[in-house]
Parts: sequence; C-alpha cells; structure tokens
Amino acid sequence: MNQPKLCTVCGGRTTRHPSEICARCRRRAESPVKLCVCCEQRRTRDESGYCYMCRNKAVTQNYGIQRIDAAIERQKTVLSILEKKKEGLSLREISRELVIPKSSVSNIYRAAVFNAARATSFADVAEEEKTNQP
Ligand SMILES: [Zn+2]
Ligand SMILES: [Zn+2]
Repeated sequence: MNQPKLCTVCGGRTTRHPSEICARCRRRAESPVKLCVCCEQRRTRDESGYCYMCRNKAVTQNYGIQRIDAAIERQKTVLSILEKKKEGLSLREISRELVIPKSSVSNIYRAAVFNAARATSFADVAEEEKTNQP
C-alpha cells in the first residue's frame, strides 16, 4: 500500500504524494520567495510582488488619492453652484441642473460665500496689522 513518507524537503511532515514532498512544501515551491519589487528589502511570496509592508503602503496611498478625488469633486460642485448663481440662476434652478437637492445647494452656497467672506476679512485684518507697524 501507499505508506505515508517523510517529506524530502522539510523532513518534518509526512506525505502520500508521489513526489514525496508534503503539501505545504509543494505550495512553497509553486510560489517562490521573491524580493519585494517596491522596497527590494523585504521578501514576499505574494503574487503582487509587494511585501506585506509595501502592500499596506500602496493601499494607504490609494485611499489618500480617493479622498483627494472626492474633495476635488466636492470643490467642483461648489464652483459650479457659485458660477451658476453669478450667472443669475436661482438655487432651485441650480438644484435642478446639477441634480442636487435644493437644501444641499443652499447649504453649499451659503457655506462657500460665508467662508469666502470670512477668509477675506481675515486677510484684510492681517493686511491692516502689517501696515500699522512702524
Ligand atoms: Zn515538507
Ligand atoms: Zn516592500
């Protein structure tokens, strides 16, 4: 009969496989350890070629870019609301055009105009303080 044999690679686990290599050592052979393609310092068995640390870093970077993209989209919305308001459209018309609820358009518009006004007044104060200095 087919007796389990000691694995010829690790010598620790037994196997019935004709190759006389245990399942774990066969898996190891299929995905050899490579140097990480990113840091070239840590070793990895991952298909991506990235070590554990660099994979995490890549995920974090993508996440950061996604957040920036979302922020850009938000700013674009703010910009088009302001531009359309300047063109003379009502908040209701802007809401219909951008397919955003009127309450959101109103909130975004107020926040943008209020923040801009506050930022300008801060800048004015800073300018005044500078010119008042001897
Ligand atoms: Zn083995
Ligand atoms: Zn790495």
